[in-house]
Amino acid sequence: MRSPYAGQPFTTSTDDIAAALQDVSVPTLLLSLVHITGDPRFIREFKPVGIFLNEVQGFMSEEEKQRARAAALPVITAYRDRGCPEPTPLSRSLIKEMMDWAACETVPDEYLPLLFEELDFDGADPRRPEALDPQTTAELPVVVIGCGESGILAGIRLRQANIPFTIVEKNGGPGGTWWENSYPGARVDVANHFYCYSFEPSNDWTHYFAEQPELQAYFSRVLDKHGLSEHVLWHTEVLAAEWDDDDGMWRLVLRSQNGRTTTVQARAVITAVGQLNRPNIPEFEGAGTFAGPSFHSAAWDHSVQLSGKHVALIGAGASGFQIAPAIADDVARLIIFQRTAQWMFPNAMYHERVGDGVRWAMNHLPFYGRWYRFLVMWPGADKGLDAARVDPDYPNQDYAVSELNAAARLMFTDWITNQVGDDRELLAKVLPDYPATGKRTLQDNGSWLRTLRRDNVELVRTPIQRITPRGVVTEDGVTYAADVIVYATGFRHTEVLWPMTITGRDGIDLRSMWGQRPYAYLGITVPGFPNFFMLYGPGAHLAHGGSLIFNSELQMRYINSCLARIAEQNLHSLEPTAEAASAWHLRTQQEITKMVWSHPAVKHSYFKNADGEIHTVSPWRLSEYWAAVREPKWSHFVARRKG
Ligand code: NAP
Repeated sequence: MRSPYAGQPFTTSTDDIAAALQDVSVPTLLLSLVHITGDPRFIREFKPVGIFLNEVQGFMSEEEKQRARAAALPVITAYRDRGCPEPTPLSRSLIKEMMDWAACETVPDEYLPLLFEELDFDGADPRRPEALDPQTTAELPVVVIGCGESGILAGIRLRQANIPFTIVEKNGGPGGTWWENSYPGARVDVANHFYCYSFEPSNDWTHYFAEQPELQAYFSRVLDKHGLSEHVLWHTEVLAAEWDDDDGMWRLVLRSQNGRTTTVQARAVITAVGQLNRPNIPEFEGAGTFAGPSFHSAAWDHSVQLSGKHVALIGAGASGFQIAPAIADDVARLIIFQRTAQWMFPNAMYHERVGDGVRWAMNHLPFYGRWYRFLVMWPGADKGLDAARVDPDYPNQDYAVSELNAAARLMFTDWITNQVGDDRELLAKVLPDYPATGKRTLQDNGSWLRTLRRDNVELVRTPIQRITPRGVVTEDGVTYAADVIVYATGFRHTEVLWPMTITGRDGIDLRSMWGQRPYAYLGITVPGFPNFFMLYGPGAHLAHGGSLIFNSELQMRYINSCLARIAEQNLHSLEPTAEAASAWHLRTQQEITKMVWSHPAVKHSYFKNADGEIHTVSPWRLSEYWAAVREPKWSHFVARRKG
């Protein structure tokens, strides 16, 4: 069968192909030509220079790009005229050469299994679980909590494995974050052709970093395609889950839209609730007295007209940073209260539309989409981690934690100062005072500083003292009048699984056990909580790059293996040993303290708990995490047989 990634046959006219070639990513085009012809000269005769870093056209001169397009046109038209036959598979060594060429560096061997799996040229979906004998799984009902990206994935994989399941979702539709965050300007900040399931790529994204409606539609489409709707209880929230060790069952208390509570039981539970889901609204004195509407960014009140209003935007992390440019035009006045300035990564493509020619290439040129995925994944994968790691010998630790980190600081500083020009007052407000990448770095195409320089926009860095019926008062006594307050103040990230009550063996309450220090073996399982699995659990947040969807796919494969063991060996329960879990937590903690996120100059960060420790973030390279969760080590588990 033709690989789904070999492209749909086409009869496009030569002129239209030539037009499409003006749009496409030239490196990706050249890689596709190698597939079409089997001839490596297309990469050997065209050498991009430097690193790509979102520069999908490659650092080729315009002449070199035109030479590549001219070489491509006859190859593609001849391929069309032959009826677009499926290309002969390339050797592994040639594909490795292509990876090195595209990455502009030697891709280390440790990444190869991960990359071949992720790129999946033959369309076999190597992370798909084995279909289990329905007789062995009939007694293994699973409840998945949440129907966002990871819950949908869980549903797909459970269905493929013949495991009965129900997804419980508090919202009225799928997408999680992408259902809830409908604020103006909401868009993903991971390149979209990577931020989608490896086995459900979209060739038709309209933006390189899609906006929320398109992402939500993507997740709805995937849900429908995989026939999951009938498995979902919408508008239903899980309040509590309790393990009964006598019969090896989880009992979950659900609350439906009408407030009624019911109990369901399951042999296993998978939480898929994300870590950035429950809004955090700080308790500012007097907030309740505010006379106008106020709401959190993740619960945008679309009935409130902002046009002509004075709007106070409290918080400017990733959400506020997107909201301000999107509403500044409309409002009479926008006052942005930002506690900590943010580092930004210059990305010219951040708001760019995907050209028609690129979409044509994605749909028709063999493996174009796969290579484009690689091209955006590679620089976004672990490069950020290198710049985040502390070199204890680096002399000026107040400024940067390593030479690479200093280079990032210099690049980001240039990006900011070049935009601000000689406005010293603004520069002092927007230039961060902590090392680069100390918080999650934002993607920026210049829209943030352009917004701040508008006459109707003011950035306030003085701390908020209180809120009055008419506006916001800062600690210097200044009152900022406001008709509307928007809280873009983030989420209760460190309170993993809040507000659910999860009770394990011997009546132990999970969140009390964790306190401020949530942990899980590989970010997935916890001792004392049998048959309990987390997608995107503690220690699995990505601060440095990568994509949570990629992580979810790895975690779900691992969970499928555990469930298969429970089913096939007719187990009562499976849980990690306390030793394995604490060893993993300790190793993770040792790594985290060597990362810039732990730097004392980063005073406020949603990663840090009240003691300044970080327990929710992964310090691991994608390749390390891939290897760690490739398959369960059964010696790290306690398996109890039934009876
Ligand atoms: P966030 O990054 O945690 O930002 C919250 C903002 O509120 C920060 O400016 C924070 O200041 C401020 N704040 C919080 N508590 C405060 C207090 N007590 N007083 C004053 N200011 C306070 O939250 P977010 O912007 O919603 O983004 C969270 C994460 O969601 C992102 O890092 C990203 O992972 C994800 N996200 C992604 C996208 C995307 O893909 N494009 C968009 C939105 C969100 P401090 O910085 O001083 O703490």
